[in-house]
Amino acid sequence: MKTLLSQSRIEEGVACVATKIAAVYGESPVMIVGVLTGSLVFMADLIRRLEMPLRLGFLSASSYRGATSRGSLVVNSDLLPDVSGQHVLLVDDIFDTGHTLVRLAEMMRSNRADSLRSAVLLRKEGRQEVEYRPDFVAFDIPDEFVVGYGMDYRDMFRNLPYVAALDPEDIAEVGV
Ligand code: 5GP
Ligand code: MG
Repeated sequence: MKTLLSQSRIEEGVACVATKIAAVYGESPVMIVGVLTGSLVFMADLIRRLEMPLRLGFLSASSYRGATSRGSLVVNSDLLPDVSGQHVLLVDDIFDTGHTLVRLAEMMRSNRADSLRSAVLLRKEGRQEVEYRPDFVAFDIPDEFVVGYGMDYRDMFRNLPYVAALDPEDIAEVGV
C-alpha cells in the first residue's frame, strides 16, 4: 500500500474546498447530503470548516459491492430529509465514472431541491463517462484503487487517516 495523500495534504485540500463553498453560498442555509459510507470522514472535516447555517442528510449509494469490481448502483434514501426548497450540496468521496452523482443529482432535482451542487474529495483522471462535473473537487488523482479517509476495500481501511493506493498484491492478500 502506498500513501497517495498525507494527512496534512488532505487537511489543506479540505480547507481549500471549504473556502470555495463558502464563497458560493455566503450566509445562505445549505442542506449537506453525504453519500454514505465513503464520504463520512470528508463530510465530518468539511462541515467543521463551514460557517453558514446548515442541515445534514444522508443517502447511501453503492456500486462497488465489497470488492473492486462494479455492480449495479443501489441507492437508499431512508435517511434523506425533505430537500424541496433547499440548497443541496451533495458530498461524495470519489468522482469516478460519474454515474453515481448523476443519478443522485437527478434524484435531488426530482425532489425539488432549490439548487444542487456537489463536492468530492477525489476525482479520478480519465475515468468519467458522463457530461456532469462536480462543482468542488479537492484532488485529482490517477486511476488507482484507493482506501482510507473513509474509503474502503471490502469494508476495511476506512479508519486510515490518509489516502492510500492499494497494490494488486494488497488486494490479493486481503483475499478476493
Ligand atoms: P462512480 O459512479 O463515479 O463511478 O463511482 C463513484 C463511487 O465508487 C464512489 O462514491 C466510491 O464509493 C466508489 N469508488 C470509486 N473508486 C473507488 C476507489 O478507488 N476506492 C474506493 N474505496 N471506492 C471507489
Ligand atoms: Mg460512494
